[in-house]
Amino acid sequence: MAPAAGGGDPEAPAPAGERPPAPGPGSGPAAAALSPAAGKVPQASAMKRSDPHHQHQRHRDGGEALVSPDGTVTEAPRTVKKQIQFADQKQEFNKRPTKIGRRSLSRSISQSSTDSYSSAASYTDSSDDETSPRDKQQKNSKGSGDFCVKNIKQAEFGRREIEIAEQEMPALMALRKRAQGEKPLAGAKIVGCTHITAQTAVLMETLGALGAQCRWAACNIYSTLNEVAAALAESGFPVFAWKGESEDDFWWCIDRCVNVEGWQPNMILDDGGDLTHWIYKKYPNMFKKIKGIVEESVTGVHRLYQLSKAGKLCVPAMNVNDSVTKQKFDNLYCCRESILDGLKRTTDMMFGGKQVVVCGYGEVGKGCCAALKAMGSIVYVTEIDPICALQACMDGFRLVKLNEVIRQVDIVITCTGNKNVVTREHLDRMKNSCIVCNMGHSNTEIDVTYQSISQCDFLVLKFYGIFLAQLYFCLGKWLKQSMLSSPLRAALIELQHCQASLRTPELTWERVRSQVDHVIWPDGKRIVLLAEGRLLNLSCSTVPTFVLSITATTQALALIELYNAPEGRYKQDVYLLPKKMDEYVASLHLPTFDAHLTELTDEQAKYLGLNKNGPFKPNYYRY
Ligand code: NAD
Repeated sequence: MAPAAGGGDPEAPAPAGERPPAPGPGSGPAAAALSPAAGKVPQASAMKRSDPHHQHQRHRDGGEALVSPDGTVTEAPRTVKKQIQFADQKQEFNKRPTKIGRRSLSRSISQSSTDSYSSAASYTDSSDDETSPRDKQQKNSKGSGDFCVKNIKQAEFGRREIEIAEQEMPALMALRKRAQGEKPLAGAKIVGCTHITAQTAVLMETLGALGAQCRWAACNIYSTLNEVAAALAESGFPVFAWKGESEDDFWWCIDRCVNVEGWQPNMILDDGGDLTHWIYKKYPNMFKKIKGIVEESVTGVHRLYQLSKAGKLCVPAMNVNDSVTKQKFDNLYCCRESILDGLKRTTDMMFGGKQVVVCGYGEVGKGCCAALKAMGSIVYVTEIDPICALQACMDGFRLVKLNEVIRQVDIVITCTGNKNVVTREHLDRMKNSCIVCNMGHSNTEIDVTYQSISQCDFLVLKFYGIFLAQLYFCLGKWLKQSMLSSPLRAALIELQHCQASLRTPELTWERVRSQVDHVIWPDGKRIVLLAEGRLLNLSCSTVPTFVLSITATTQALALIELYNAPEGRYKQDVYLLPKKMDEYVASLHLPTFDAHLTELTDEQAKYLGLNKNGPFKPNYYRY
């Protein structure tokens, strides 16, 4: 590993007056081809965001500044030169049970690589083909065998899916058109690790049209659409992915993307951080040629910030997860649509007149409430934050405590990002057939499995009780309940509730459909639990292509920006996509709606202190 290079204080901002204008894609010929009316891809003034507590502030010159809690202001320097550095870093990755196959590459993959991702349904049935793609010799119609997919013969099906996705990805298609003749990614060798879906295929083919060479692996062992992977391989993309990879396959595929004779990546597009980690561990010298990392996921971004904090990030990285457009589309608009989709597909229910309680009125909650209200549901909201609570009131929702409505509601939806929001006590009080589901990130919101022991009423028995409850749970099948005196039995059951909320012996679980469980109480009452309390929309519905279009466009622009940035514009740190590019992503999607944007007059621009071409808002602006 190369030692960390010096090159001045990485935190030191370049004084605004001393900064020469940053050349970049916005000023090059490539930019002209891609640019909107003004003929420019927005110029970079990307923000470093290594600390979430930092706030962003607009600078006098329209640039953006980073304000730390102590009031220190730093700005993304544009001309500071610094050499690429590399330092080793040990990372803990989540483990999962797996079948380790041959040629094990000896590591566990990240949680996001294994999360169930049902959006990726397969269009053709290849279940009868048990042969591992690694054991097959396949060639595309041009004779190339530089890929590994389930079945190259499925390419035609995949092509149709890609063409359908193109219809809902207007911005990428616009980028392709604008780039005709100009190749802003000429010479770029991008190694990618994302979900391999029709939408990703549109992104890859756009990157190809912009001049890049790409090699691709899947970031999730379940999410690859085999037909799409086949279509990409058929059109010459070295793709190494199939649905249902083993852990060993997963790393083998990534390795086949990066470990190639005569080809070395100079850009990384990652979703989850596994690819970055792999290169980091196995081929650290590659970072000498890599110009930047674009990371899409919360997990991957978190890892990059950790590296950055430890001073071990050796190339600039772009956090596209936190760009405004992506956040809004993922959280608010996507959930507004997919909550209905997820509920419909699993329950076939009608929403009109149903009483629904939505826990949490953040972006996701707002989306869910809006959708259900529009369908004629009676919507209640619970909140802990008075500001969001007031918003809920102003939007016409009744703000309640969960206890107040739990007996009467037909649907309970959690979207807080918190834990134990719906407890066993709530579940006990729900009415028959109440539907319970979660739209938050993790399965901690509904007390399906574990509840904090501190909520237990039997504190005296806490230590011994846990042991006894566990024993009772294990032996429950064999022990006749009558063998235990009823007070002791009640105490043990209660203790058990403290630990395993819905997983208790007196409740019966019935799997009635994929992702739908009926949990049945001894008196016959049943609740309908969706996706076992995991994220409903990702488990039970699809994500709209238009939402993915926003993300993919953001990724493409981030790659263009990092690839074309002059040395020194970005240091070995994590940056947000420049606000102007965020605005550009949005503007590329406007023609879909035949939307007509008003332009500032010179006078108005002067009055507001804005550049006519943006950015139009400071970084601290809340949309
Ligand atoms: P947010 O922070 O904007 O909103 C969460 C809200 O829940 C906050 O207003 C908070 O005050 C409130 N809250 C916290 N604890 C509560 C409690 N005990 N009772 C009632 N309200 C409570 O976050 P968000 O963007 O709305 O995201 C919410 C969750 O959804 C996160 O876990 C996020 O990762 C996840 N998410 C899901 C999807 C999806 O597709 N399903 C998309 C994006 C984000």
